[in-house]
Amino acid sequence: MKRVRVAALGLLLVLAARLSVAGDAPAAKKNGEQKPIWEGTWDNKKVDASIRSLIGAVDAERMKKSLFYLSKDPLPFRKVNYTLPGHKKSTLYEADDYLAGRLESWGYRVEREGVRVQAFRRDTRKPKHAQYSRPMPEDPWCTAYNLYAERKGRSKPQEIILAVAHKDSQSWVDSPGANDNAIGTVSVLEIASVLARYPSERTIRFLFCNEEHIPWTSVTAAQNAKARGDNLVAVFNLDGVGVKSAEQTAAGKKINVTAYTRPEGERLAELMAAVNLRFGIGLEQRSVKRPGPGDDDGSFVKAGYAAAVINIGSWPYADPNYHAEGDIPERCDVPNAAKTVQATLAAILTLDQSP
Ligand SMILES: [Zn+2]
Repeated sequence: MKRVRVAALGLLLVLAARLSVAGDAPAAKKNGEQKPIWEGTWDNKKVDASIRSLIGAVDAERMKKSLFYLSKDPLPFRKVNYTLPGHKKSTLYEADDYLAGRLESWGYRVEREGVRVQAFRRDTRKPKHAQYSRPMPEDPWCTAYNLYAERKGRSKPQEIILAVAHKDSQSWVDSPGANDNAIGTVSVLEIASVLARYPSERTIRFLFCNEEHIPWTSVTAAQNAKARGDNLVAVFNLDGVGVKSAEQTAAGKKINVTAYTRPEGERLAELMAAVNLRFGIGLEQRSVKRPGPGDDDGSFVKAGYAAAVINIGSWPYADPNYHAEGDIPERCDVPNAAKTVQATLAAILTLDQSP
């Protein structure tokens, strides 16, 4: 689910143009402002070398394997309301088992948090990308799970950096949901894979949630984090990474938009632009201010975590197959997503190593 609608495209383009930060240079510093903390962090040659080595370990082929597993074969969907013929579990539960299995194979302990949800109904009178409609009270309720894994920090375990992606596909339509959001799911999975043996200073947490059923399970995740008193110092939501218009695809663009809601998120967007340059990742990177909290990062903003952003390929979301049957893994730009993973990973590592 993405809140930006095609109907608002014109207005949003104007807003985005006015509010975006230049893509190919770190945001200009205002008078009297200190230099960004990350520049000092990178002055440490060991830290710089460690970030370069870890982002070099991002493996697009490994991402592609999981992408096809989760959005084609053996799982055509990830829906709590769809079970493959002859199978005992819903395709969403089978996706959970796959993700947990991968994480456990890398040494993580996986925790599940159940949330009661309903599938959306479908209203075919609405535009194709927006045919989800509220379920009725009598529609069945199911449990959808948030999956968590984490690296516990050595020196500052109470400070938590969170990477999140919604793992479910659209409950109201038979779309594989490859770009929305198997690609973000395998991106967070890839970050977890690369960091499996990384001795972090802060806690680095991974959350796989559900956002194509209602309510969104990231709301529960964010509220429970707040209730526990978790100190989430940064939240990176990966949703629709590398997704772009047909024209941008034809032009071979490798792009990322970091959208933020609050000034604390703007700082993370500046960091995304800075790592892209520093580590030669090669994305066309730009920042956008959201009109208000949205998507799974919005769940965290609403719960009081201001340092929350989304990394997404295009803004407004430009996938011609958005929420449609044609959202298939063959149409995902995995090399673009791998670059976004590298940049997100570099940002996470920079925050982790900062004083
Ligand atoms: Zn969606």
